Amino acid sequence: MEGLDRKWIRRIKRRARPCIAALLFYSGLLGLAVSVLGRMRNDFPAVVLFYHRFKEGKARTIPGRMRIDAFRRQLKHLGRWYDVISLDELIERIAARRRFGRPTVVITIDDGFRDNYDLAFPALAGMDFPATIFLTSGFIGTEKVPWVDEIGMAVRRTGRRRLALPELLGERTLDLSTLEKKARASHALYKALLEVEDEERRRYVARLLETLREETDGAGERERFMLSWEEIRDMNERGISFGAHTVSHPILSRMRLADAEREILDSKETIEERLGREVRHFAVPNGRDADFSDALRAFCKESGFRSVATTNSGRVEPGVDPYRLPRICPPESVSLFAFDLARQMFLG
Ligand SMILES: [Zn+2]
Repeated sequence: MEGLDRKWIRRIKRRARPCIAALLFYSGLLGLAVSVLGRMRNDFPAVVLFYHRFKEGKARTIPGRMRIDAFRRQLKHLGRWYDVISLDELIERIAARRRFGRPTVVITIDDGFRDNYDLAFPALAGMDFPATIFLTSGFIGTEKVPWVDEIGMAVRRTGRRRLALPELLGERTLDLSTLEKKARASHALYKALLEVEDEERRRYVARLLETLREETDGAGERERFMLSWEEIRDMNERGISFGAHTVSHPILSRMRLADAEREILDSKETIEERLGREVRHFAVPNGRDADFSDALRAFCKESGFRSVATTNSGRVEPGVDPYRLPRICPPESVSLFAFDLARQMFLG
């Protein structure tokens, strides 16, 4: 009985959170609280945000893409109540073991999609905010995308209604009859593929794409989804810095150590060569503890990286290990974003 009650309380809390966030945000109470709390103290942690892809308009939600108007509103909120600093500044501050005089945020974007230039960059430039984009160097200027996105796109486009892949999914078949079910199927495939060794994963992905494309119209059409070097250079001259995010976005803990080290170092060297600037920061593909290792962390340190960004959730305190940098993935809703950020900054 008690277990059941707790489950209900959790469910009610989950449903109530967006309502409470909206009420506090739109009534102006949240801003007021942030402003008062911000003045009451003079030592704050920092929060590192990480985004991926952006989209225009109100098109049906594609997982992992944020509407650009939502992003702009989030930046506006940051501009009003928070200091936005560069990742370099944050790492220096961590080394000096000092907290911040004001609530402070760092903006990062993973993977290097083209919409970062077309949509996010003008929004960032409009606010004069620094940001770091972590590039998957082998895909820049090409039609390739990280495997998780490739699967997502292929599943979305396919005319297939069901998918069986016994070697990977066992008895299970995936329902592809609606866009929502396709999104769920992509997620299930992604979860299953995270658990297999890299070479095996490449084989599964190739077979999966072939199966899905058999029933896709215009399967041969490709376009460039990632940034080009010209776009990267342009941003680099105007306040955006770049970090490494491997060559081909593999799960580094699922491959031989020497291959994983190559992925990391090659992406660093390629970006340095192209930009003529030192690349000081690395972000782990997928970013969980299980996706990385202590040996690779030590390798990043030896290779001259000053930080390694993860997708572990949390705020940055002075004592934090810069090679295990926690980050927060912002929700699309601006009220929820403001609410969650305030909670990270001022509570707990
Ligand atoms: Zn990534």
